[in-house]
Amino acid sequence: MSKTWVRKEKIADVGKCRYCKEDMISTDSFVAFANHTKAHYLCMKKDDLKPKINFDW
Ligand SMILES: [Zn+2]
Repeated sequence: MSKTWVRKEKIADVGKCRYCKEDMISTDSFVAFANHTKAHYLCMKKDDLKPKINFDW
């Protein structure tokens, strides 16, 4: 007999993304900022592109 458990609770809730406001889990790629906010890595990258384009003009 083997015990097979679906452990959803093992995935930790990280918090809300500061960009898209979605809840993130520990298996997502996310980044943490110095002001204790967090964001998806991809959301941060997307947001990061905009100011860089502007500042480079
Ligand atoms: Zn996001």
